[in-house]
Amino acid sequence: MQLKTILNECHKFKSFVYDQVRFVDQGGRKHIEVDVRARRNSRAICSSCSQPAPLYDRLNKRHFEFIPLWGYAVFFVYLMRRVQCPTCGVKVEQVPWARGKCELTATYQQFLAHWAKKLSWKEVALSFRTSWEKVFHAVEYVVQWGLEHRELSGITALGVDEIAWRKGHKYLTLVYQIDAGSTRLLWVGKDRTTKTFLRFFRFFGKERTQALKFFCSDMWQPYIRVIEKRAGQALHILDRFHIVAKLNKAIDEVRAGEARQMQQDGYEPLLKHSRWCLLKRWEHLTERQEAKLSDLLQYNLKTVRAYLLKEDLHGFWEYVSPAWAEKFLDRWCTRVMRSKIEPMKKVAKSMRAHKPLILNWFKAKKAFSAGIVEGLNNKAKVTTRNAYGFRTYRGVEIALYHTLGKLPEPPMAHRFC
Ligand SMILES: [Zn+2]
Repeated sequence: MQLKTILNECHKFKSFVYDQVRFVDQGGRKHIEVDVRARRNSRAICSSCSQPAPLYDRLNKRHFEFIPLWGYAVFFVYLMRRVQCPTCGVKVEQVPWARGKCELTATYQQFLAHWAKKLSWKEVALSFRTSWEKVFHAVEYVVQWGLEHRELSGITALGVDEIAWRKGHKYLTLVYQIDAGSTRLLWVGKDRTTKTFLRFFRFFGKERTQALKFFCSDMWQPYIRVIEKRAGQALHILDRFHIVAKLNKAIDEVRAGEARQMQQDGYEPLLKHSRWCLLKRWEHLTERQEAKLSDLLQYNLKTVRAYLLKEDLHGFWEYVSPAWAEKFLDRWCTRVMRSKIEPMKKVAKSMRAHKPLILNWFKAKKAFSAGIVEGLNNKAKVTTRNAYGFRTYRGVEIALYHTLGKLPEPPMAHRFC
């Protein structure tokens, strides 16, 4: 069987045919070249208006990289034509296997983008002996296509979240759809300012915004204000995941401060290696962490008291009735305020200030599990980490849409991977 036969089976075009196939030796490494030519009597297409037009002249041969075969790079070689378009003038023709000046065939780009969902871009580049930039452009193409063709109707629930990027110096604002059975990343914006978030609403449009029923966020003030202003009709919920995250941060602060103090005062370093036993829920602790924790609990430390307060709050989310939940929350906040543990008091204060929004969680009948935003948040963090090759915001943005956007893909006649 010939390579041509396989190509005609899986990658066929109406107006073009595959011709000669050969090995080419380049500096001791062989690659495969496949000549492509236009079918006789077929008309070239204007790249500007996509209409057939009369031939003007021929340009140079161009190489288009296709999916490598058994370790050999594969190129289509084609003599590009120019057309004399009645509407656009003299234009380069449009070919169905590639776009614009791109050196990679669209199929190869989709192939790389497919792997870039499973591996880091660097690993994809290494595996297929191509460059990081080419993988980037491949993913960018697929993402752009997906963004243009995605469906945005019927969205009723959104969540907004921020993640640190570039070792914590910069933030990104992420907006997720969190409708039951339909969760995905909808939008990425630079920074976490009011301005950023307002840009989301401009993109999303008035009509779709009016149709929103639920909006989840954390206690970040710019987000809260913008949601109030733009989507006031939606039930605004401060979600559990973000509140727990805030408490964990406070505990971390208490522990670090107390450990420092104990060291200064010459006490035994009790709090060493205690970080994870305090942050994880007790049912997820390893045996060693559990032993460490029960050891710690014997001491009257600020850290221990903060930990117990945090654990108590888990009971809050179990309530069914918003009224009882409110009573619980009030009592809990009072206890925290009396504890004199500053970082915890700070969280309790902002929880008091946002009590109605926290209680909306019960009005939404817990429709959104804390797991939804948390899961998406974790995935986003992994993606930006993988993305460490990314020096630009554009790179991170594209990677996030690619892995979390559930975007539709350009249609392919044959599945190459
Ligand atoms: Zn034209």
